Amino acid sequence: MIHISLSTPHVHRKMVKVRMTFLSSSNSQIVQLSSWRPGRYEMGNFAKNISHVKAYNTSNEKISTHKIAKDQWQIACGNEEQITFEYFYCAAELNAGSTYVNSQMLYVNPVNCIPFLPGRADEKYTVEILDSYAHLSCGLPHEGNKLFAQNFDELADSPFVASRNIEVLSQEINDVVFYANIFGITNLNFERFWNDVRIYTQFQLNIFGEFPVSKYRYLLHFTPYFMHHGVEHNTSTVIVMGHGENFDREEKYNEMLAICSHELFHTWNVKTLRPVEMMPYDFTKENYTQLGYVDEGVTTYYGDLCLRRSGIWNNDLWKLSLEKWLNSHHRNYGRYSYSVADSSVDTWLDGYTPGVPWRKVSIYNEGALLSMILDIELIASTNGEKSMDDVMHQMYQQFAKKNTGYSVEDYWKTLVDLGLSNAHEFKTNIAESAIDYSSYLKNAFDKIGVELIWSPSAFATERLFGFSVDIQMGKSKVTSVCMNSAADMGSLWYGDEILEVDGITVDKNVNFLIEATTTTQLLILRNGVQMELTLHSKPELPIIQQSHISFPENNSLFNCWIGKRNA
Ligand SMILES: [Zn+2]
Repeated sequence: MIHISLSTPHVHRKMVKVRMTFLSSSNSQIVQLSSWRPGRYEMGNFAKNISHVKAYNTSNEKISTHKIAKDQWQIACGNEEQITFEYFYCAAELNAGSTYVNSQMLYVNPVNCIPFLPGRADEKYTVEILDSYAHLSCGLPHEGNKLFAQNFDELADSPFVASRNIEVLSQEINDVVFYANIFGITNLNFERFWNDVRIYTQFQLNIFGEFPVSKYRYLLHFTPYFMHHGVEHNTSTVIVMGHGENFDREEKYNEMLAICSHELFHTWNVKTLRPVEMMPYDFTKENYTQLGYVDEGVTTYYGDLCLRRSGIWNNDLWKLSLEKWLNSHHRNYGRYSYSVADSSVDTWLDGYTPGVPWRKVSIYNEGALLSMILDIELIASTNGEKSMDDVMHQMYQQFAKKNTGYSVEDYWKTLVDLGLSNAHEFKTNIAESAIDYSSYLKNAFDKIGVELIWSPSAFATERLFGFSVDIQMGKSKVTSVCMNSAADMGSLWYGDEILEVDGITVDKNVNFLIEATTTTQLLILRNGVQMELTLHSKPELPIIQQSHISFPENNSLFNCWIGKRNA
């Protein structure tokens, strides 16, 4: 049994005092903190938040401890029976995977602030919160101010919030009890939200036939600034969204539904149905897998698709999602550099930052497009008899229910078994190739009567010269350059700040100044040095385009795709 106590003697310092007490099993004990957290496949190096480390013996006398690796400490236990390991954890960042304290709450993701003892990760944990709070929200069993976990894995996967205030929603769907514990200020319409949650949840339950757990909890933080972040867990999800008072805007409301639907789908896909390389998780190092296009790709696709198919979204909203994925793919020249399978391995390198130009693709975006192509191809080749629903259902039965991981081959074999006989061509030609997906998308769409047209972007910089700008704090910075475009030929590059267009100072909209010119003179700022560039727009040079999708009036396979097949 390992006992943890948490307290925040000075809330404004945002330092949580953690004390870990355990019985010594050797005269030299290693304490290990996780170096990453499931859901974000990159090094988190949470030990950077730890300071003032001390160790004590049974008589509460200090004993020697020192660091032996970036997230390992060694304690000289000697013959002592009970050891206490103590430190401060800086809890200053609020996101869906962090630990954060303020005057209203103590929000903890145990994976980033509570260590384990190597070789003893199967021991039970109790976590005691010493400060007084009115409410405790957690997927773990708890009593008063104490939480109980069967082992480190369960504790690591169970975020909790001790709070002074809380808003709670609950409902039962197919014998599963769902809760939403809400923190912060928001104008979200709870009644509408909770009703929509019921609709998409029922829909997802029908795909898999059952839910892996009997209780599920949404821990929802609303912030007074922009946030969009969610993390999946076995019995809960944490979602941080803001601005909390923007939910009267339909767009923001739909963003909220999409993230909630995505995280719920993860309860099956990745929390229980998991790549073999991550079964079990190794919290000490990178857990490489090429299957990010299933973990996040299928989940991203289904998160939105379930909103359309369950009827919460109409065709227009579904089209917006598709066009967003298509446009992101078209604008990312990293598609000619690394495949989505290779980019999955590289999340550990730079997966959550834009990275250097033209380097990689996204397991979310390209993963969703690949999932959509496979779904449509499977529907078309089985004349609507089978779809990705069946793939996920079968994989869940075959692997998740038996508590075993699945391999790359297992996934593609399931597609073949269900009727996509040429699935391996998609594996080789799309999933494992650095290519543009357009022709595969067009082929798939043709089969269900969906029309995909590309037209020049509405923005002049993109339409005429093949570059995009982002205007922030009055500065127009280049964020994308199309390969071999007029901008590329004219030596414009990522990060350049545009100061003048044809002698006119760029104030707000560079697109307005550049409109209707075929040659433009730019004054730019690059690494603190001003320079002049001349761009020549020519019809034969590539430009940035945008996608337009139209749906058929009446097509039975199209109806299979977005219809309520399993309702
Ligand atoms: Zn996800």
